[in-house]
Amino acid sequence: MTKAIKTAEELIDKYCIESHRELNLEEICNAEGLFIEEVELNGLLGNIIYENNYGLILINKSISHPGMKRFTITHEMGHFFLSKNSNINKHGCSYDSLSNYSENKNHEAEANRFATELLMHKPWFSRFIKNIPVCMDLIKQISEEFTVSLTAAAIRYAEIGQYPIAVIMSNDNLVQWAFINDSFPCRYLPVGSPVPKESNAWDYFNSDEMSTEEDLIQARCWFTEDFRCSQTTYFYEQSIAIPVTKSVLTILWESEFK
Ligand SMILES: [Zn+2]
Repeated sequence: MTKAIKTAEELIDKYCIESHRELNLEEICNAEGLFIEEVELNGLLGNIIYENNYGLILINKSISHPGMKRFTITHEMGHFFLSKNSNINKHGCSYDSLSNYSENKNHEAEANRFATELLMHKPWFSRFIKNIPVCMDLIKQISEEFTVSLTAAAIRYAEIGQYPIAVIMSNDNLVQWAFINDSFPCRYLPVGSPVPKESNAWDYFNSDEMSTEEDLIQARCWFTEDFRCSQTTYFYEQSIAIPVTKSVLTILWESEFK
């Protein structure tokens, strides 16, 4: 992962980029021998083919969210910069690839790490979020300000935000993945855990409407198997639907950080 972080920082230095608003991906791609085309791609968000010092990035033209498009382009750039001297010369990237933040060394997680570090470089990110109370509205503001997906914004906040949060993606009543800050009081939430009935996220899968307001929820409702979660701990919870994947993105934060 350090290679991905270092590579992103080197590009920021090389092009003397002072803030995220100065970050022009197309200019960097042109200067680095990368070409971008929007095409129809079956089942993939993006892919890249490269040889020597040239590469062609193909982006699914059905991506309508500008943040998702920008994150996908940067993810493909990550493949190029991180593997151009290896014997691999192509990658095809799905929704699952773009939400792979595994700590294990793999190409998709490394490309996401590169994209996160380039688009939401730590000093720029920390400056933007400073002293703003955490809630889904802040995640939306980050997504708009840095032109990234809501998921990428939420995960970056969970990593380096001012307050510890848990980010949960659920699909079809089950937890698909969770990304939890190291200081968050409850951490054990295995993939495939049921979405609790007390949660607004449950309503999305089981009724026509889901409240997007913040609500207090007992910590044990989500973290049923985490012995560190006491009966008296409550979190704020706020959810937003991701209609394209029929999923729900939920954030939890401690009630004293309100
Ligand atoms: Zn990929």
